[in-house]
Amino acid sequence: MSHSRRRSHAPGSHASLRNANQRRVLDVLRAGKADYTQAELARLTGLAPATISNIVRDLTALRLVQADAGSGRRGSSVRLSHESGLVAGVDFGHSHLGVAIGTLTGEIVAEERHLLRPAHAYDGSLALAASLIAELAPDHAPVMRVAMGLPAPIAGGVVRGPHILPGWHGTEARDRAAEIFGIPVELENDANLGALAEHRRGAAQGRRSSFFIKISSGVGAGIVHDDQLFHGAIGTAGELGHITLNETGPLCRCGGRGCLEAYTSINSIMARTEGRVSATTFDELIAAARAGEVVPRGAIEDAGLHLGWGLAGVVNLINPEVLVIGGDIARAGDLLLESVAMGVRRHALDVVAQTPVVIGALADRASLVGAVLLAAERTELSLDPPV
Ligand SMILES: [Zn+2]
Repeated sequence: MSHSRRRSHAPGSHASLRNANQRRVLDVLRAGKADYTQAELARLTGLAPATISNIVRDLTALRLVQADAGSGRRGSSVRLSHESGLVAGVDFGHSHLGVAIGTLTGEIVAEERHLLRPAHAYDGSLALAASLIAELAPDHAPVMRVAMGLPAPIAGGVVRGPHILPGWHGTEARDRAAEIFGIPVELENDANLGALAEHRRGAAQGRRSSFFIKISSGVGAGIVHDDQLFHGAIGTAGELGHITLNETGPLCRCGGRGCLEAYTSINSIMARTEGRVSATTFDELIAAARAGEVVPRGAIEDAGLHLGWGLAGVVNLINPEVLVIGGDIARAGDLLLESVAMGVRRHALDVVAQTPVVIGALADRASLVGAVLLAAERTELSLDPPV
C-alpha cells in the first residue's frame, strides 16, 4: 500500500514515531473541516504544540499541507494542500455519466454530467469517463484513485445483474476500469455511494447509522452502520428493490413478481397512470398532483405506501437512526413523505415505527459526491519526499 509501510522502521524508533505523529495530523486534516489552527491540531491529536509545529513544517516541506501565517504561530491556519493529490468520482446511471474531481478531504473541485444511450456498453463508456477525468483534472496535481458507481449488484469487482445492467453483466468492471484509467479503481454500487454521501455530507450527517433508498428507473439502497458502509457476505447487501411485497403482484424486470421496485420505480408509476393522466413525465405528474389532480396524487401516494411497507421491514431488521429517500422519486418531496411514513407506521414494530423519513439533501449528485468521498477515504498519502 503506502511507501511508508514498505519502508517500515523498527517499532518505537524515532522515525516511525515521527511518521505515526505525522499521520495523526494528516488524519485530522482529512476528516473534518477545511482548515485548522495549530492549537486545534494539538488538542485534537493530543500532541504537544511544539511537536505540531515541527510536523506542520515537515509536512509543508513534503507539500502535503499548506500553512498560512496568521497572527502568531498558533493562529496560523493549516490545511491539506491540493498538491497532496486529487481523486476522481465516476457515477454511471442507466442513461447518464457523472464525473468529478475532488481533494483528499472529499471536496469537489470540478464536475461534469453527460447523457448516455440507455443500455450503454461498458467499453465505450469507460473510455468516455477516462477522457472526462483527464479533461477536468488540473495539471498541477496527480489523480491518485477513482471510485466508480454502477446501478447494479457488485460482488468482488464484478457486475452481477443480467437484467439490471445488461451491457455490463459479468464484466470485471473494476479491473477493466483500472486498465483504462491507469490508476487504482474502487467499484461500488451507486446507491451505496449515495448512502455514504448522505451520511457524511447530507441528510444523515451526524448520525451513526442510516438507510438510503434511491428510486429512479430502478431501486437501489445502501446501509451505513457505525459510520461505515455495510456490504454483506459478497458485497450485494441493500437490494431492497427486489424484496417481494406481493407474490401475485406485477411482473418485475428481475423476473420476479410484486417486487418493491415494480410498485415504486418511476417507470412503474408512469405505467400505472398511463391513459388516465395528461402527464408524460414524472415531473409533470408531480405538478399535476400539486395542482390537486386525484389520479397523479393517488399514484404517488400508492408508491409511497408500498415503499413504506418495504422500509418497515428495514427498520424492524436493522433499526437505522434515519431513512433517507433519494433518486428521481425524491422530487415528489412532501407528496411522497407522508405516505411513506404512514406505510412504515402501519407495518413496523411500535418501538421503531417513528423512525424519521427524510428526503436526501444531495439530490441527483449523491452518488457522485459519494464516489469522491470513497476515493478520498481509500487513498493513503505517501510520506516520502517528492521526486
Ligand atoms: Zn424484482
